[in-house]
Formats: sequence, C-alpha cells, structure tokens
Amino acid sequence: MNAPDGLAPTLPGFDVASVRAQFPVLAQRVHDDRRLAYLDNAATTQKPEAVLQALDHYYRHDNSNVHRGVHALAARATKGYEDARARIARFAGADVAGTVFTRGTTEAINLVAYSYLLPRLEAGDEILVTEMEHHANIVPWQILAERTGARVVVAPVRDDGGLDLDAWRERLTSRTRMAAFVHVSNTLGTINPVAEMVAAARERGVPTCIDGAQAVAHMPLDFGALGADFYAFSAHKLYGPTGFGVLLARPELLAGMPPWQGGGDMIETVSFDGTTFAEPPARFEAGTPHIAGAIGLAAAIDWLDATGVAAAGAHEQTLLRDAMDAIRDIPGLRVLGTAPDKAAIIAFTIDGTHPSDISSLLDMQGVAVRIGHHCTMPLHSRFGISGSARASFAVYNDGEDVTQFAAALTKAREMLR
Ligand code: PLP
Repeated sequence: MNAPDGLAPTLPGFDVASVRAQFPVLAQRVHDDRRLAYLDNAATTQKPEAVLQALDHYYRHDNSNVHRGVHALAARATKGYEDARARIARFAGADVAGTVFTRGTTEAINLVAYSYLLPRLEAGDEILVTEMEHHANIVPWQILAERTGARVVVAPVRDDGGLDLDAWRERLTSRTRMAAFVHVSNTLGTINPVAEMVAAARERGVPTCIDGAQAVAHMPLDFGALGADFYAFSAHKLYGPTGFGVLLARPELLAGMPPWQGGGDMIETVSFDGTTFAEPPARFEAGTPHIAGAIGLAAAIDWLDATGVAAAGAHEQTLLRDAMDAIRDIPGLRVLGTAPDKAAIIAFTIDGTHPSDISSLLDMQGVAVRIGHHCTMPLHSRFGISGSARASFAVYNDGEDVTQFAAALTKAREMLR
C-alpha cells in the first residue's frame, strides 16, 4: 500500500511515549483499574498539556472581550485572538482575511450554504455531494434545495469504500452550483483525492467546499495550493477545544458574501436607517466569539507542528496496519472501508452481534470506541447496515492500545457467540 499524499512512509524515531505523556487524561485507569485505550478520536481528540495551559493562562490572566475595550486585558485578549487567526492561517496555508472563526465544521459549512450558495441558487440547480458525507455536509444543502427547488445529487461509493471518481465526474454538470465533499471519511477512513477533485471542479467552473474535520490533525494542509474555495474544520478533532472551528475561504469570495448572522462586532455603522457591515472575516463573526477557543486552537497547532503533522499521520498509518493485521482473523468481522488511501479509522461489524454489545464489552476492558451511525446514516444504508462500531487512532495511540483493542475484541466476540 502506498503512503497517502503528504504522509512519510516510515517513522524513524517517532517517540510516542513522550507524546502520550503530554496528555494527562490518558494516564487514568478506568473500570477496576484497567488501562485506558482511547480509540474514539474521530469523535473528539484529547488535549495536550500545552493546550490546557494556554486555556488556563487566558482565563487566569487575559480574560476580556475582544475588539471593544482599550484597557490592558482587552488589548491582550484581542491580540491573543487575532494572533491565533494569523497562526491558524499559516498552519493551513490560508490567507488571514480568509480565515473565519466558527463554532466548528458544522457551522462553517452552514455559513457557506447560507451566505455563499443560497443567494445564487435557483430551481433546477444541483449541489453535488458524495455518499460518504457526514450529515453536516448533507443536511445544510438539503435544506437549501428544499427552499429553492434545487437538487442534491449524490456520487456513489465503491464496495471498498473508495469514491467512484468517474461517477463523481459524470455528475459535475452545467447545472452544478457547488461540489461539497469530505477530505477524510469519518466512517470509512477513505482519503479522497481532493486536489484532483478541486481541479476537475474548477475546470467546469464549479465551486468547492471541503469538509476537513477528519483530515487536519492527520496530514499537512495547504489550502492555497489546493485551490479549493472553502475548507472547514473543527478545533476539537485537532487536539484543541470544543465549540470552535474554522472556515478557510478565498478572500475574494468572502468579500462578495452577505452576512448570515447579525449582531455586534460584524458591523461598520448602525443606525435605524440601515447598517453597513465590517470587512471579512469580522463580517461573519457576529457576537462575542469563543476567544479561548481561538487561543486554544493556536496552542494545539503549535503543539502539532512541533510534533510534526506528517510524522503523526505516518505513525497512525503504522497503527492502522498493525490493528488491521491483529483483528483480521476474528470470525465474522466486516470492516467498512478498505480503500488503498485510508486514514486510521476502522468501522466494523461482527456477524451475529450488535455493535452496542461489542462496545460495552470493549469498554469494560478499558477500550473506548464509538458505536452507531457516526452521523453517516446514508453511508450505513449503502452498506446495508444501520450502525457499526468504530475504532479511530490519534498521534498518542501506541502499540499497547492496538494489542489491548485486538485482545478485547477477540474476547468480546467469544463472549457474544
Ligand atoms: N464532518 C466530519 C467528517 C466529521 O467527522 C464531523 C464530526 O464528527 C463533522 C463534520 C462535524 O464536526 P463538528 O461536530 O465539530 O461541527
């Protein structure tokens, strides 16, 4: 198997023990003194000491509102918030003016839907998505389609969980007004060829919106080089705080987009005769923002950069390969998603068992996995199931986590026979 784009194929000297030691939550014991193997990273990641300290420092020393006061704390909070924007933009290869803060991936996609696409959408227009999308990249487009008479068109997934790229290209037509697709599937682990997809869409003049929620912590991103119009991600899946996220956008597109929420901080002047709006990104950040969220994400990015995002991704590829080798002979095991380019996410079922029984038995052995549809109900329907269990790996997982997971799963299968 080739290493996916941007990932180093080998891992000389990756010191996972010292990475792990920086995550206090991982040191705890659960259920009768069991070692914790935290494998629910696609849902949310744990936070390193550096992020915890940045959040603590902000609230202890600098807490104030941004952009409004002239006192020392307000100046420090504003500087922290705007420095974080510059830091995050640099990490993602994006323009500072095109880096909008949101509550997460979901809100970022909704921003694109309501501010960019809705004013342009007419009956008969099409929005192209894929069968592997998270609900966050389906439902906002469906709501727009229902309002306008447009149609959501779906590109299919192959049996191995890869995107049927030919079918996706065929669905890019003169009626397509947006191509929205996930970078890394949160269920299949499939890494989509986003650069190729962006190029194909651009050739036909179709704007692109990429859901990067499961990508940014695991592979390098250069938004500028990618050439996409919009790219969304969440801080909490990148070792940062919950309730915070980012929309990267081409600044010239943002400049032409109307606000989608009104309130403080997004205006230039207000009178009862009318309001003029601030330039982007402020135009899209109505109200008091999640200041600590921005500062926490910048700290997470500093931390990840120091660790090396490509090295993190390569380490996770090793864990994926070892975990697949360790579980592949479990009778009745079915893994969803075996495409060649795959991130370290293993969604699975075991014949004759229910995913919730599996996950309870894993939990009792200290192994944290997720069960259910993982907000990809259409994808589960595509594979003829209503849910699955999912183990997902992050930079701090190690060989012991893999061993513990495989042993616990083998035992769970035996108990449920
Ligand atoms: N897209 C994908 C692929 C995800 O995995 C998730 C979260 O699980 C989301 C979008 C939504 O992210 P958030 O809930 O942080 O907005």
